[in-house]
Order: sequence, then C-alpha cells, then structure tokens
Amino acid sequence: AHPDAGAPSAARRSDRAHVLHSWSAHATFEPLVVTGAEGAYFVDESGRRWLDFSSQLVNANVGHQHPKLIAAIQAQAAKLCTIAPYHANEATSEAARLIAEVAPGDLNRVFFTNGGAEAIENAIRIARLHTGRHKVLTAYRSYHGATALAITATGDARRWASEPGAPGIARFWGPYLYRSPFHAGDEAEECRRALAHLADTLAAEGPHTIAAIVLESVVGSSGVLVPPDGYLRGVRELCDAHGILMIADEVMVGFGRCGAWFAIDRWQVVPDLIAFAKGVNSGYVPLGGVIMRDAVAATFATRPYPGGLTYSGHPLACAAAVACIGIYREENLIERARRLGETVVGPALRAMQARHPSVGDVRGLGMFWALELVRDRATREPLVPFDASGAAWAPMAAFADACKRRGLWPLAIGNRLHLAPPLTIDEDALREGLAIVDEALATADRHCRG
Ligand code: PLP
Repeated sequence: AHPDAGAPSAARRSDRAHVLHSWSAHATFEPLVVTGAEGAYFVDESGRRWLDFSSQLVNANVGHQHPKLIAAIQAQAAKLCTIAPYHANEATSEAARLIAEVAPGDLNRVFFTNGGAEAIENAIRIARLHTGRHKVLTAYRSYHGATALAITATGDARRWASEPGAPGIARFWGPYLYRSPFHAGDEAEECRRALAHLADTLAAEGPHTIAAIVLESVVGSSGVLVPPDGYLRGVRELCDAHGILMIADEVMVGFGRCGAWFAIDRWQVVPDLIAFAKGVNSGYVPLGGVIMRDAVAATFATRPYPGGLTYSGHPLACAAAVACIGIYREENLIERARRLGETVVGPALRAMQARHPSVGDVRGLGMFWALELVRDRATREPLVPFDASGAAWAPMAAFADACKRRGLWPLAIGNRLHLAPPLTIDEDALREGLAIVDEALATADRHCRG
C-alpha cells in the first residue's frame, strides 16, 4: 500500500514537521521515505523497489550499499573517525595519492572539501591567489553549487533567487548545437563560433583582469551538453594565451560517469584545476575537493593557503574514496560505462527518437545521457518552458509519473530526462529501465503537434 494510505510513519511525520528539504517548500513537498537500497535499486517504506536511473543526484556511481565500500567505511570508523585537518592520516594521504594518480597531467595536489560547492569556492579562491586577478568567467548553462560564490558562478535559473550574489563573475554562452546561440549548422561550426564568442567576451571583459574560466567539461544538470570536439582544447588555448587558469568542474561528470576518469580526458585536455565531489566516493560520506597542477600548488609552497574546513580530508570520507577508486579499477567500471553508453544506451535512445515525436534530441556519453523533449520537432518548442515549475511543468511531471508507475526512478530536469544509472547496473536492468522510458514517452507524445 502507498504509505499515505495508512497512518504516516514516524519517519514521515518527523520529516514533515522538522525537515526543510533542498529547493523545496515544506508545506507541499511529499518526500519518499527510503528505507534501504542495494545495487541499482532502492526501497521505500511501503516495500516498493525502485530502479535508480538517477544514481540519486548522479553520485552513487558504484551503486547502493556496495559491500567493499561499506567494509572500508566500517574499518576506518573502527580505527579513526575524525582528526583535525592539520594532522596527516593514512586514509587522507592515500586518497590524495590515488586522486593525483588518476588525474590528468601534473595535477598532483588535492585540497579536500565536504562537497562540490566548496570545491568550486576553493578552486576560484586558489585561482585568484595564484593569478592576482579577480574576475571569473562562467557559462550561462551551468550549475556550480549553492553556496554564495558557487551560486553566483552558476549560470542557470537556480541563481536568480540569490542575486545580486558575489562580485566578479561574468558569463558567456557555451556550445549547444541543438539550440545554438550561434546559429550554427553543425558541430564544427558551433565549436568555431563558440570559441570566437568566448574570445570576444574575454576581450570585452579585459583578459588581464580574468583569473579563471570555470566550466563543466560536460555540462550536467543544465542539459547533458557534450562539447564539440575541439572546444575544450580551444578554451585551453585561450586561457594559455592570456595567463588565465582553466577550472574544470567535474563534480557531476568526474570519476567514470562519462567513460573516463574525468570527462575532460575524453578530449585529452589538461585543465589547471579540477573540482570534484560525488563520484569520488559515490557519496557514501560527503567529500569533494580541488586538484591542482604543480605550478598552481607552488603558489602555496611557502605562502600559507588562506582557506580551510574543519572536515577537510575527513578520514571516513577519504577511506571511502580509496575504496571507491579501487572498485572502479577492479570492476573495470570506467571502460564498462563507455562500452554500455556506446552499445546499449545511445542506440536505445536513438531508436526511441525514431519512434517518438516528443524526443527532439538525444545526447550523452558513457553512462550520462539526456532526452530533450519537445512539442514540435520542426520548431523545437520545448515540452515545458525553460524555467517551468508548478502547472507549467505538468507535462514533464506526467512523464516522470509514467516512469514511476513502472518502477523507474527518473531524473527529470526542465524539458529533459537525464539518464544516469549506477555504472554497476547489470545489463538486463539497464535494458529494462530503457524499455520503461520508451513506454512512458507515449505520455509526452500526446502533447506533440501534427
Ligand atoms: N558542480 C556541479 C557540476 C554539480 O553538478 C554540482 C551538484 O550537483 C555542484 C557543483 C555542487 O555540488 P554539491 O551539491 O556537492 O555542493
């Protein structure tokens, strides 16, 4: 029975009375009470099992309750739960060593944080101190976190309520061929024009005033926007030409999600700083951080870094990172993500596009995809407006409900379904989930014209 059918559980009662959830109004928000999880599934208090196509907030890359990850956390808890960040300990040191090992180029030093927003805050602070400049460029289609500077750095609508925000951020448009801000006809043209626009923006903002360009290597919650080949390299070249640091936000797409350790590796570009979180330990214990190149780290060789956190390098979180990186390696999850993306997810979504008029665009790589839903393929009018909420979002809510009725937990954002199952999901479950999406699309097709 649905939990609301009987008396609400103590968990639900206390939640409704006392918890304010992220991005939600407590009087109307009805959370699912989750009681357990395993692999690609989680279970609610009514006993219903959900196939998790979201990896929660795209963090549970190794799936739920991975036994090796749990064992590592338990062992660390028995040994050393917490220690001040001015001490060294085995878990933190080893996590930093492994992260440097899998990071591209000479990104060899890690500053640990509790999550992604703090990673961005500190990456920008590091870039400002290293360059002696203040201004930072970020993309309109981006999300970088909800703390003061990270939400200002964010380009999408989530920042509006926090404006005017922190000073010193200027914005540019990144590539997005399906809704090209540059009226481009193909990927190569989109790439050229997006780079020309970025160069113009730099010129107008004064390149010598700019500390960093921050961008998501593959844009995540603002649309699963895969950059055209050549774009990230072009950004790197513009940064080099002007002494600007390149900060890759890999919070959502790092650690295997896109079929490489870091999404930017797919284009063999080395940024100056990488912000990471989520997949580093699959979110079993909160952790994030910044990885920096040797030349950037040198700034803080003799000059103390003016920033810190009580839980920087938290042993429990770092032990989970050590175990999680081990799991990625032992289970070949990164290659697996790449292969499943190319052989299962991509082809299945393209077949849906051929069948369903509501599917305007399919894009993604690895285990990170999106279906962009439209009312009209010719005009590309989105199924719901850009900043839709409430009644305006109803067609997407109905589509998400159609997935839920069939046991799939969807990640629906704007007019898109994002598909980000755990990298460990077995192939049968993956195909089953894709079949559910296929069926549910009939709900969206009803809004199509013609
Ligand atoms: N950057 C990106 C690209 C993200 O997707 C997110 C969260 O979804 C963040 C930063 C913020 O991370 P956190 O929520 O851990 O602060």
